[in-house]
Amino acid sequence: MTESTIIAPASAPGRGGVSVVRISGPKARPIAQTLCGDLEEPWKLKKCTIRSKGGVDLDTGLVVFFKSPNSYTGEDVVELHCHGNPRLVDLIVAEGVSRGARVAEPGEFTKRAYLNNKIDLAQAEAVADLIAAQTEGAAMAAHNSLSGRFSSDINSCIDSLVASRVYVEASLDFPEEEIDEEGLAQAGLGIKEQLGFVKDTLASAERGALIREGFGVVIVGPPNAGKSTLLNALANKDLAITSNIAGTTRDSIGVELNLGGVVVEFTDTAGLRENPDNEIEEEGMKRTHASLEEANLVLCVYDITKQEEIEPINKDTITVLNKCDLLSEVPRCGEAEVCISAEKGLGLDNLVELILIKLGLGEETSLLSRRRHVVCLQECLDSLSEAVSLFEQGLGLELVAESLLSAQESLGKITRPVSSDDLLGEIFSEFCIGK
Ligand code: GDP
Repeated sequence: MTESTIIAPASAPGRGGVSVVRISGPKARPIAQTLCGDLEEPWKLKKCTIRSKGGVDLDTGLVVFFKSPNSYTGEDVVELHCHGNPRLVDLIVAEGVSRGARVAEPGEFTKRAYLNNKIDLAQAEAVADLIAAQTEGAAMAAHNSLSGRFSSDINSCIDSLVASRVYVEASLDFPEEEIDEEGLAQAGLGIKEQLGFVKDTLASAERGALIREGFGVVIVGPPNAGKSTLLNALANKDLAITSNIAGTTRDSIGVELNLGGVVVEFTDTAGLRENPDNEIEEEGMKRTHASLEEANLVLCVYDITKQEEIEPINKDTITVLNKCDLLSEVPRCGEAEVCISAEKGLGLDNLVELILIKLGLGEETSLLSRRRHVVCLQECLDSLSEAVSLFEQGLGLELVAESLLSAQESLGKITRPVSSDDLLGEIFSEFCIGK
């Protein structure tokens, strides 16, 4: 438990119906009592008058006292609900400070929740991600992570790894003839099972990190196939979040769209041609190639009425056959193909559905994760693969136990890293004040 008592507005700055001021720490209750009267009963909203030190009535509002450890931070917490005026909120915070609280740093309430074991680090990160989410999909995925689903997957894997390692380490202490071969074989199977689980979790964390960061879809194809028309059609259909229209007509144009609740940045590129006409076109092509490198998915747009050569692209691709309104009969499409009319808005729903499937955003509820988690899971996977291969080759149980320990430590860094000051500083400084 920390000694200091902290105070900050918990609601967004500005005017509104209600603002909330939060106080946390050992003196939260006595400080709040001098501000707004007795707080006998915890977890009960109570009407109150908020008074200055000089006895002036500042506002009437509501107050609730959360008794430690059943509070957000795990400490005594008081939340004061006053009218939503920023000057009034400043006054109440100043009154709290004059009674011995200090203004909280960004993320300090959540940091205390973490330090007091109310949540783990992945959940603390999910709090920041939920607040920052730009789409409903990202918000729901962050909520899923905050509720502890991601953490409990990680923790159950840590538990299994510990069990396997303990078994392997115990076997080290026995003379060779006394080793329980069958038990050891079971432990080997367990390690293999965990390897599969970590692989699946890594794939889901990679998807979760992309939901947080946004997906990149690049539109390529011959000139006049209808790439810009398609981008406009998608932007009209869905909510465009931002757009950056770049300088020259040969440059790439990017639009961020909310597609099925997830941020997807579509980039319309300069057409790819064998021999660019001039320097500007050459530069445009360079940028197209750079966008292709980074893309999560490529839409190759062709004019269905033309026999255009389909260039092989070394990426996950959807072939979009455009201008189907010009044909009397729409042909059957292959698995990764869609026939559309960007101009008439035909087939766009099918295209969006296929994009979401290709990005791995089907029906299942997603979790939100960060690159940091992906890196830790990859480290864990490497150590576990090593453990399995050492085990299978019979290359010494000490080495297997060592690899299992590394795998376990890599996972531990996701939820509760051992030495973590720099990391905590980095994570909590991203938060807003009052959270
Ligand atoms: P880009 O060079 O690939 O970006 O192609 P544009 O989007 O500029 O389109 C080239 C031409 O095709 C324009 O005259 C569009 O109006 C036309 N076009 C685009 N999509 C369609 C479509 O679905 N049907 C028809 N009939 N014309 C289209």
